[in-house]
Amino acid sequence: MSYKNYPMVSRVVYGRGSFNQLNDILSPKRKNVKAPFIFLVDDVFKGKSWLTSRIPLSYDDKLLYISAEEEPKTSQVDALVEQIILDYKETPSGIIGIGGGTLLDLAKAVALMLTNKGEAKDYQGWDLIKNPAIYHVGIPTISGTGAEVSRTTILTGPVRKLGINSDYTPFDQVILDPELTKDVPKDQWFYTGMDCFVHCIESLNGTYLNAFSQSYGEKALELCKEIFLEDTLTEKEAADKLMMASWHGGMSIAYSQVGVAHAMSYGLGYLLGVKHGVGNCIVFEHLEEYYPEGVAMYKAMRKKHDIKIPQGICADLSDKEFDIMIDVALSLEPLWENAIGKNWKKTITRDKLKALYLKM
Ligand code: NAD
Ligand code: ZN
Repeated sequence: MSYKNYPMVSRVVYGRGSFNQLNDILSPKRKNVKAPFIFLVDDVFKGKSWLTSRIPLSYDDKLLYISAEEEPKTSQVDALVEQIILDYKETPSGIIGIGGGTLLDLAKAVALMLTNKGEAKDYQGWDLIKNPAIYHVGIPTISGTGAEVSRTTILTGPVRKLGINSDYTPFDQVILDPELTKDVPKDQWFYTGMDCFVHCIESLNGTYLNAFSQSYGEKALELCKEIFLEDTLTEKEAADKLMMASWHGGMSIAYSQVGVAHAMSYGLGYLLGVKHGVGNCIVFEHLEEYYPEGVAMYKAMRKKHDIKIPQGICADLSDKEFDIMIDVALSLEPLWENAIGKNWKKTITRDKLKALYLKM
């Protein structure tokens, strides 16, 4: 048995207002005046000067606004990399992603693809990246995915939705400033927050569980219960805690795996473009067979916050479309093995998955 030797985020700063330290953090990392910092910023912040005026642009630095409407694609990463190579003679000093999981994943992928030949789709999988990425910084503006700590960047490619998992993927620096999450719409707050909750449930109920994962997963779950089920926290306290729940939830799955909800949600995402957070919610509604306590808790949270979850999204699909979703879901073998055990293929049949998808 050999144990995985995990990379972690090298540096992290936490606190309300810590975003103001961005310039101090970046300055020593500037290679020269011709090697820019490229800021990839969620376009929801266009015209929001309370945030954008604090992005320290100098020399040839560039700010690119990017929509998080759709999840990142390998072709989008390739186009960004090509644009950066065409625009600048020198390799950038760094890539800074500011936004949710979508922008964080794009920043990681662009930083990796600036130093690795070929197309992003060639690296979807495990440990295919050869060269270290350029310096990259993640600044989350919504909490839950754990993308700020993870060693993956989830991309939709021409044939699969799969991460670029590598030791070079994690950020060199993360800035955790809960103030940046203040304008997140309520539904989105819930969907992305439930991503964290589902990470905890899937990790804590998986066969891969170990004391390392459990210690992070239990803490994140405790925070989620406080945030989503109790009335004791102020809005600011809840935002502070959700940012740390996301971090711990991400750390928990780093050394274990996610499970049934994620496998099936990837299928919905690939075929129908359903986004990760809401996709997990749509699936989780129907998983009492696998996670009875977790699903009951989830439903109590959804009711308490009066959140509507889309229904009937698989009602009109063809057999061919079901097959595509089922193929995507079944291809995620480690997730099933974690959720069910080594013999998962005995119970997780195509018919079983179709019956579940039909309920959604
Ligand atoms: P997101 O980045 O897709 O953003 C969701 C919505 O919230 C968008 O409309 C965005 O504009 C808006 N938003 C973000 N911050 C805001 C703010 N401060 N104020 C107002 N609106 C704001 O959301 P997400 O749920 O964080 O990320 C989902 C993505 O993360 C998916 O692509 C998923 O595949 C990926 N993901 C990655 C990992 C990983 O480990 N790399 C893990 C889980 C999910
Ligand atoms: Zn997730």
